[in-house]
Amino acid sequence: MQILGHFIHGDRTDIQENVRTHPVYNPALGTEVRRVALASREDVNEAVQIAQEAFPAWRDTTPLKRARILFRFKELLEANADRLVRAIVEEHGKVWEDAQGELGRGIEVVEYACGALELLKGEHNRNVGPGIDSWSEFPPLGVVAGITPFNFPVMVPMWMFPMALACGNCFILKPSEKDPSAALILAELLREAGLPDGVFNVVNGDKEAVDALLDHPDVQAISFVGSTPIAEYIYQRGSAQGKRVQALGGAKNHAVVMPDADLDAAASALMGAAFGSCGERCMAISVVVAIGNATADALIERLQPQIEALRIGQGSRRGLDMGPVISAEHKQKIISYIQAGETEGAELICDGRQHPMQKESEGFFLGGTLFDQVTADMRIYREEIFGPVLCVVRVSHLEEAIALINAHEFGNGTCIFTQSGSQAHYFSDRVQIGMVGINVPLPVPVACQSFGGWKRSLFGDLYAYGPDAVRFYTRRKTLTQRWAPPAGSAQFAFPGNG
Ligand code: NAD
Repeated sequence: MQILGHFIHGDRTDIQENVRTHPVYNPALGTEVRRVALASREDVNEAVQIAQEAFPAWRDTTPLKRARILFRFKELLEANADRLVRAIVEEHGKVWEDAQGELGRGIEVVEYACGALELLKGEHNRNVGPGIDSWSEFPPLGVVAGITPFNFPVMVPMWMFPMALACGNCFILKPSEKDPSAALILAELLREAGLPDGVFNVVNGDKEAVDALLDHPDVQAISFVGSTPIAEYIYQRGSAQGKRVQALGGAKNHAVVMPDADLDAAASALMGAAFGSCGERCMAISVVVAIGNATADALIERLQPQIEALRIGQGSRRGLDMGPVISAEHKQKIISYIQAGETEGAELICDGRQHPMQKESEGFFLGGTLFDQVTADMRIYREEIFGPVLCVVRVSHLEEAIALINAHEFGNGTCIFTQSGSQAHYFSDRVQIGMVGINVPLPVPVACQSFGGWKRSLFGDLYAYGPDAVRFYTRRKTLTQRWAPPAGSAQFAFPGNG
């Protein structure tokens, strides 16, 4: 069976004997299709050393030349779109059009990073004192690393490395061991675009590789995206060692539906947001907060037939709504949440366990599940299920919905469906959430904004991509300059600037 290695110094590495490996599945077939090597601490140290050696020349490459490589990379991404989409679909399981969408959102970050010259402009003040000028520059950090989750094997790495490279850093990517192929294709395309060897490296692996990156003194910053317990661990261990860390974690995203909303439009938006990619998105809507019983009843009446009609199958076929979930273990975990929901007294409207694909296929398929009468004390409400399960919570007014959302430990995304501008503003002003949609179910910011959550959905201060990424991947240096000789004798008082 094929074993995938790493990508270091511009090439795929050879597989050593007796290397630890991890199985990679095609979740639609339920079969192992290849294995991936798991890097040792020595492998990681080698990658960091190679990146460290490549850093001075890349730092000194002008931003315009860096941008030209990224322009070529963007063209190669488009030319190789089918290859990348096939890798996503095969190892992740999401449907073809969804994988195309993922690639498209990743390319948008590359397009933004192509503005490196503009993004890295400093800040300048003339005459901050007599004949004195002052300005800030934004040099790169050095070697930085990204650790990414299984659910967006192309887009989430591309939230990170195009911006890090544009800013002049060298990058080490540690992708998810569940779907590692796409990262290696990205590395090959960067090389083809003209990126010098050693500037971008991929180390495949698990906790051992992650810990080696966290502990390495030459790794200056870590970007992490994944589940909250691991995000918190990465943040604590990385920042304790003086690294800059941004660690994006899990979510439980609520959609508030007001009685005045266009309920047909809201139901259709909720279908995509809850069940797209099998709910395995950190921005997936997993809770609907219906204002009033009439709204809840009318919504469920619209959602139930659409959930029962979900087109589920192997993602390589076109025109489907949902593929399988990532693994047999994850499928079992989702099933145990459905059981917990029943035990805790929620009303099961649609049961994804009854879908024929769940029963007949060897793949990790589940149908869509809908629960009504969910309350804040239930596990299916409190915990991130990360599967095709939608919970309806009934409340009587908007204030109650806001209090519910604000009390939840996660704060990634939320949205409100309403026709009232004032209600929408009231909601967005008070809700303690990082990304808010108004009649937009998945308010994933565009590439020129930045992506991140509040509360236990993000550890660190700066969001991913966009303007925050320029600050994250650079270090401010402020210069104060005078060329004219100072008048008079030595000054011993602290200098003022009047
Ligand atoms: P995960 O936390 O299991 O894994 C993420 C990464 O951490 C992987 O590269 C994995 O190899 C590594 N890892 C796993 N266990 C580790 C350990 N004990 N020590 C060190 N490293 C470890 O997450 P996942 O299952 O791949 O992805 C799903 C999760 O990611 C969900 O919780 C989802 O909400 C979250 N997510 C968040 C965002 C966001 O922007 N906030 C985006 C996508 C996914």
